Amino acid sequence: MTRWIEHVGVLHVHSVYSDGRGTVPEILAAAREAGCRHVVLTDHDCLAATREGWGGVYDDIALLVGCEVTPRRQGHVLLLDVDHCDGYAARHNRATLDAVQAQGGKAIIAHPMGADLPHLRIRHKPWFEWDHPVVRGLEIWSYSHDWVDRVAWWRFPFAYAFWRRPQEQVRGPAPEILATWDRLGAARPVAGWGGLDAHAFRVGLTGWTIFPYARMFGFLRNHLFIPEEALRADPAGAVRAALLNGNGFTCHDVLADGAGARAGALLPDGRCLQLGQSAPFRPGTVLTLSLPRVADVTWVENGRARWRERCSRLAVRPGVPGVHRFEARLDGRPWLFTNPFYLRAEAH
Ligand SMILES: [Zn+2]
Ligand SMILES: [Zn+2]
Repeated sequence: MTRWIEHVGVLHVHSVYSDGRGTVPEILAAAREAGCRHVVLTDHDCLAATREGWGGVYDDIALLVGCEVTPRRQGHVLLLDVDHCDGYAARHNRATLDAVQAQGGKAIIAHPMGADLPHLRIRHKPWFEWDHPVVRGLEIWSYSHDWVDRVAWWRFPFAYAFWRRPQEQVRGPAPEILATWDRLGAARPVAGWGGLDAHAFRVGLTGWTIFPYARMFGFLRNHLFIPEEALRADPAGAVRAALLNGNGFTCHDVLADGAGARAGALLPDGRCLQLGQSAPFRPGTVLTLSLPRVADVTWVENGRARWRERCSRLAVRPGVPGVHRFEARLDGRPWLFTNPFYLRAEAH
């Protein structure tokens, strides 16, 4: 039986290779301080970190180096498994994804809803190119966008409140993004993760860093489940596979640490699926979720809330095939979002 190891880390981090403020060694040190075991570095339109030899395992931290490209300013996409991204920013979205596919790359759509914030000189258009086979995942929750969307100079008190206690201010995944994710999952597995978009920006000449990496790396994290043997053989490769396959959940760990949460789909033949895995639907399948604390749990079945309960352990029996996932909130605040189990209708 596979022994799954929980592996906590962060997605979507910028360094000095683009507009982030930290070097790779500083980012690795921050990850260690925050208790993260993997970091996915995604600098804008460049793979300079790869060219300079970064990527792999540093002590106990797996560093994946990808990039974030901006096709013709029609949204942003994170790329993994690519050797270059030269000229991608000048192309249309589909042409970019075709070029990614041609070099064997994979795509995770960043902050898919976009943002129009002229006062911050941010004009991101929503992503629209979803059906391309290289799209393997999306950020269901972009932590930076969650708060940046609400910041404006005339709302300074909010910005200060956010800085003090961000866990009480963020709104969580947008319902439209979750709906898109559920719709995509009906056709094929698409991983959903939290992304930080961490930059460790400094404010003007004050030298004050809004969210230093080590602090932000404790906010929203992805808890991957990785087979023990794969992790031992090739930690960075195993992290990459778990991210692309949706094996795990994303958790607002600054609210309450989600470590120890587990979910499974127990099939009538005795097999147990990990999050992100697929199997033909069989009546009698039991989906379970256990949490390290009591929360308001929702079982989402094919995009609809099927059951709600305040509990730390839930077992449900889906009556229909499809996409089944869990969400959990603490005192009304967004907390934990699992990837789905895909229980497919059998073709007759
Ligand atoms: Zn972006
Ligand atoms: Zn970014």
